[in-house]
Amino acid sequence: MSLIQPGAMLGVLGGGQLGRMFTIAAHQMGFQVTVLDPDKDSPAGRIADQFICAAYNDQAALKQMCEQCAAVTTEFENIPAETLNQLAQQLPVRPDAQSVAIAQNRIAEKRYLQNNGFTVAPFAVIEQVTDIDAVHDLFPGILKVSQFGYDGKGQRHVCNQGELAAAFEDLKAVPCVLEKKLPLQCEISIVLARTAGSAIESFPAIENQHVNGILDISIVPARVSPSLFKQADTEARRLADIMEYTGVLCVEFFILQDDQLLINEIAPRPHNSGHFSIDACVTSQFEQQVRTLCNLPLGNAALHQPCVMINLLGDVWQDGEPDWTKVLRESSAKLHLYGKAEARPGRKMGHFTVLDDTVEKALSNALYIRESLSNH
Ligand code: ADP
Ligand code: MG
Repeated sequence: MSLIQPGAMLGVLGGGQLGRMFTIAAHQMGFQVTVLDPDKDSPAGRIADQFICAAYNDQAALKQMCEQCAAVTTEFENIPAETLNQLAQQLPVRPDAQSVAIAQNRIAEKRYLQNNGFTVAPFAVIEQVTDIDAVHDLFPGILKVSQFGYDGKGQRHVCNQGELAAAFEDLKAVPCVLEKKLPLQCEISIVLARTAGSAIESFPAIENQHVNGILDISIVPARVSPSLFKQADTEARRLADIMEYTGVLCVEFFILQDDQLLINEIAPRPHNSGHFSIDACVTSQFEQQVRTLCNLPLGNAALHQPCVMINLLGDVWQDGEPDWTKVLRESSAKLHLYGKAEARPGRKMGHFTVLDDTVEKALSNALYIRESLSNH
């Protein structure tokens, strides 16, 4: 496996904020980046060395990627598997099509996890109306579309078969998973990087708080017992090994009231909950993505200081552009804005990270900053 050195051109499929932060990390290390995205004004496309504005299955675009890139990665999981397979015939693609295929389909993902001995929430596959009759004990439950759901989109809460039937119809009767709604104590994630040579470096466990199904706050290190942290880390590593995964992987966990640990879902890429690593770790998740893509050794993922990350959704812009000095005047706060033109409610526009000696101090400072941002 050849090593790709700084100076080379790296390709990324998808031009959102994850692609943008990958591009920034790659640039810092002296790589060039080509971004492919159908949106002509994508956050990563704006800062890339080369921007190809085309569909993910556009043959001319894929040919151009092959000609000019040394390797290709992806920033979101809904890239057609065929595109990844096609590119993989000519250059290294990380993560591989097989890993992406598992993570882009909730049905495949849940079955894969279950078949490999991981615990997931009780679920049923709902592919047609008749599947609903067999469901009796999953209420109250959450019906989730199997593909293309994100940030809580494509989900409906249901309490009985009648509501399930209505929700399934409302979701256009596409293949879905019905999951039992579980009493959560908290949610954590493990973000790790794994090389083709099977070395793994994982970040500390991240505690995640969601609002309306969208990540709101990440707290690092997670306020869980060392044994739960160890268990989550061990499971995430075992999963990455079983998948023979190369790249950055995020495993989202539920912790139930009785301390039971379940896998919620996985993301075959850097994850929103790992954004803290840009400011708080020796090596960020995006630098690890560059390193795994290029067969370079992994960087140290250790934390400099406890930290808290808060997402900035479009809602923060409801009275116009916020006064960013309210973040920047706090000397241990780091502001990240993704350069998106339109601030729609619920849209991820940026985030900020606050570092401090303790998680408690970082959290109260971060909440104070958020509060002051909303008081114009
Ligand atoms: P997405 O792909 O949108 O991130 P998730 O399946 O992770 O979808 O759901 C988003 C959030 O909704 C979760 O992080 C969690 O807070 C809540 N949630 C999802 N499934 C369940 C469940 N079975 N029980 C309780 N809460 C859930
Ligand atoms: Mg999720």
